[in-house]
Amino acid sequence: MSAEPDGPEDRLRRFATIWSRAVFPVTSTSLTRPEFEELLLPLARRLRLALLARAFDADEGRAVGAALVGAHCTDPEALSRALDCVEAYLVLYCGEDGPQEELRLRSSRLQHAMAAGFAQALRERTLAEQEAIAQAALQAQGVVAQALHTSEARFRAVFEGAAIGIGIADLDGNVLQVNGALQRMFGGGEGAFRARNVKDWTHAEDAPQVWKLYDELVRGEREHYHVEKAFYRPDGTVLWTNLTVSLLRDADGRPQYQLALMEDTTERRLLNLRLRYEATHDALTGLPNRTLFFERLEKVLAAGEGQRFGLCYLDLDGFKTINDSLGHAAGDRLLVEVADRLQSCATAPGEMVARLGGDEFVALTTGPNARHEVDELAARIMNALLAPVRIEGRELTVRGSIGIVEGAAGERSAAEVLRSADITMYRAKSAGGNRFELADPEADARAITRHGLTTALPAALERGEFFIEYQPLVHLGDGSVRGAEALVRWLHPQHGVLGPDRFIPLAEDTGLIVPLGRWVLEQSVRQARAWRERHGDGPLRINVNLSPCQLTHPGLVQDTVDILERAGVEPQVLCLEVTESALIGADDDLLKPLRRLAEMGVDIALDDFGTGYSNLANLRRLPVSVLKLDRSFTQSMQQFPADPVDLKIVEGIVSLAHSLDLAVTVEGVETGAQAEQLRILGCDTAQGWYYARPGPPERLHQLALVDATG
Ligand code: C2E
Ligand code: MG
Ligand code: MG
Repeated sequence: MSAEPDGPEDRLRRFATIWSRAVFPVTSTSLTRPEFEELLLPLARRLRLALLARAFDADEGRAVGAALVGAHCTDPEALSRALDCVEAYLVLYCGEDGPQEELRLRSSRLQHAMAAGFAQALRERTLAEQEAIAQAALQAQGVVAQALHTSEARFRAVFEGAAIGIGIADLDGNVLQVNGALQRMFGGGEGAFRARNVKDWTHAEDAPQVWKLYDELVRGEREHYHVEKAFYRPDGTVLWTNLTVSLLRDADGRPQYQLALMEDTTERRLLNLRLRYEATHDALTGLPNRTLFFERLEKVLAAGEGQRFGLCYLDLDGFKTINDSLGHAAGDRLLVEVADRLQSCATAPGEMVARLGGDEFVALTTGPNARHEVDELAARIMNALLAPVRIEGRELTVRGSIGIVEGAAGERSAAEVLRSADITMYRAKSAGGNRFELADPEADARAITRHGLTTALPAALERGEFFIEYQPLVHLGDGSVRGAEALVRWLHPQHGVLGPDRFIPLAEDTGLIVPLGRWVLEQSVRQARAWRERHGDGPLRINVNLSPCQLTHPGLVQDTVDILERAGVEPQVLCLEVTESALIGADDDLLKPLRRLAEMGVDIALDDFGTGYSNLANLRRLPVSVLKLDRSFTQSMQQFPADPVDLKIVEGIVSLAHSLDLAVTVEGVETGAQAEQLRILGCDTAQGWYYARPGPPERLHQLALVDATG
């Protein structure tokens, strides 16, 4: 018995179960479903090993594809379902804790190999079947020589009844007879074949050896050959076949006729092309995907001396906000529009645009002048993004950050080039976005990569590398400290203290945000209790930020209740901050847990208010009790006198908030003048460097004591 309920073996088994459920209904196996699952289990294990292996081995994927054919999963639908299943579940159940991005890439290459192995095995099986028919025909033919009567009838039956196309021609190529199946494949009655010569059936895509094999056969130098060959039908369309041609000899062994057996593979070929297309293109935008881009980049980098490449790695600025606030459908439309614009920027030969995932795109240019051309390409892209995108009646401004890498073939691997581009893009983003930067090897070496941080995150939580700083929330009326916001930091062993902007998005992507958020909540609530014990005078409240993923996590309410109870802290002491963009467009299901928390007495604050695309009328249906005005409002009050329009806006928001019974907190107060202005405008509490920067919990306690006594 395994003590661990969810070990790799269990997950592998679950993957095999899902796989067998998906594929079993479309197989023609005589096995039961559980037996079929047993058969898939070793294949699943093979995929898992190939997924995690140090070096990629396409043979493994091909072997699994071939094994599917062996298991009677010969229907193209069975392959399609198997690939869907690998796409959706392989990394999930078998990916361990490996780097997701690489695993995904590996998984799609495996799918590719599976499709190829499947097609190959299917083809070999068909050839074997054809061979058997040819044998039967030859046998029948042999019998013709001995007992014409019965054999003639048998041969007729084989000839006419066969599902496969059969034709007989003499050694000069004159067609003598074709069966019904062959006529149907060509779609033009027997007349289409009469007086035709085999040698007329050339096709532009004929492999060079096709006609060499033919000549050898009619000269009697070979008994048969198999090829894949295309034909033009009388109506001009193309018929693809698996063609087997055999030499028929007379009773004395002299070559006499040629017998062609052909199977129509047009559909299967189309399916293969479609599978290849789907495996290499992004379903949303139709652009080449990461797999195809990698193939292309690898090819360019493997090209000989003198070849140069230039690559632009684009990430949209603030796409997440648009997605969160306007919904995924609008986000998708935006991506499609961006994809179209990018494509129009890279139309020259040797140029290519691909979508790597999410809001990340790449544009590649090649050729001896790539160094110069890539700069122009980046400028064209920035330019193409300038015009706003109209979606649902709104004009959305799209901006992007681009990392440019340029170089000669043969110096670096594709993965290294992409890593450098990613780091450079990130540098452009950190410098404020809406710009492009050129890769710099020194900066690359120093860079803290997203990938590196992402893989280090889980262990960091276990090793206790996170800590919390607290920033006081001050009452604007009397200047007293009312509480504090908990802001998490990561003391990274190599890179020192990292701010939440560096790692919260990564934790959100990987799901680690749930345990991390729970840890922050637990620590903060305990801290609130410690403050209360030392500072009797009215409890200090604690604000804790919640990520959108935490909102949808089913354990949110229960976890919060447990944490409060364990610490012996009243719900009223806690305020959960949720960003505006996470709540706008939220349906009732999403709001339910927040509503339950609000009913218990937990405050809910709308964080960064004013940055999303929300409308104020929406506020009424949200279970919030506090508005936190975004820093940008405070910033606009920095100059003196402040812009009267800005003042009016803030005043309006404050009065609307108060009329809805919401308290207003302002963020980013850096000067006394700002504080005074905001007090006059009616804001209730404030937070900012003017009062204190985020700091250790003891500091807050001292501050609170000062104003309690002073
Ligand atoms: P936020 O919730 O809007 O937090 C306020 C941010 O403004 C903090 O940045 C704070 O250090 C900064 N700030 C405070 N006063 C001033 C000022 O006077 N001037 C300026 N220029 N900035 C000021 P920080 O700590 O980098 O946090 C960034 C964001 O990370 C937070 O924005 C919050 O959304 C997120 N975050 C922080 N801790 C957590 C957490 O535990 N969980 C989650 N989910 N998100 C967190
Ligand atoms: Mg906050
Ligand atoms: Mg904020």
